[in-house]
Amino acid sequence: MNEKLKIVADRIKNAKKLVVLTGAGISKASGIPTFRGKDGLWSKYSPSELATYEAFSKNPKLVWQWYNYRRKIIKEAKPNPAHYALVELEKMFGDNFALITQNIDSLHKRAGNKNVYELHGNIFETKCLICDKIYFDDKIYSDDELPPKCVYCGGKTRPNVVWFGENLDRDILDKAMSLAAQCDVMLVVGTSGMVQPAASLPKITHDIKGVVFEFNTEYSGVSVYAEEVIIGKSEESLPELVKLLK
Ligand SMILES: [Zn+2]
Repeated sequence: MNEKLKIVADRIKNAKKLVVLTGAGISKASGIPTFRGKDGLWSKYSPSELATYEAFSKNPKLVWQWYNYRRKIIKEAKPNPAHYALVELEKMFGDNFALITQNIDSLHKRAGNKNVYELHGNIFETKCLICDKIYFDDKIYSDDELPPKCVYCGGKTRPNVVWFGENLDRDILDKAMSLAAQCDVMLVVGTSGMVQPAASLPKITHDIKGVVFEFNTEYSGVSVYAEEVIIGKSEESLPELVKLLK
């Protein structure tokens, strides 16, 4: 791992614009389960029965209960060394650093990263379906408070996350694509490379002759675009990388 990390560090030292793309793998060490519905309470549901607009229109209370349950687990989780390493990278690159994430767990922001684009939304945000406002909301609700009412207009709300079958926020996606097209180095961390359109971002960087480095526990759908794939736990490799850069 160390030889490869040196190659990555040498290239990053000369980078003009650094973009990092992260997926669920980076949050594993924080103890956030993938919520594929295997555990306990929610085992009889699959995410496709809960994380869709159809499910929500049929039974908003049930869908909110599930997000409330996830919110509770995620709220208790803490950023891990991989998250903090990315904060160090942002300090080094300042305005020439951007972080694009597929995670809704908010751990990058809680670790201290500022320039963060959340492709799939944020579990600690609530969106009003009536007045369209999106606001910070990390409250853990009791059952009889669900579904929660909009704090501005009292209207019907939903978690501000992207569900199966829904489009990503156009502005955030446009921004992510232009960042991928402008950066000369992209780090891809802990993503399966299976979920579009996030998986196409490394290809954009690769196609404009930027360099892609992947940090993952196994090869993924985007490894083909990576100049080096650093196999290992990102909570170990990323802090190691930061050490080499200092
Ligand atoms: Zn409202």
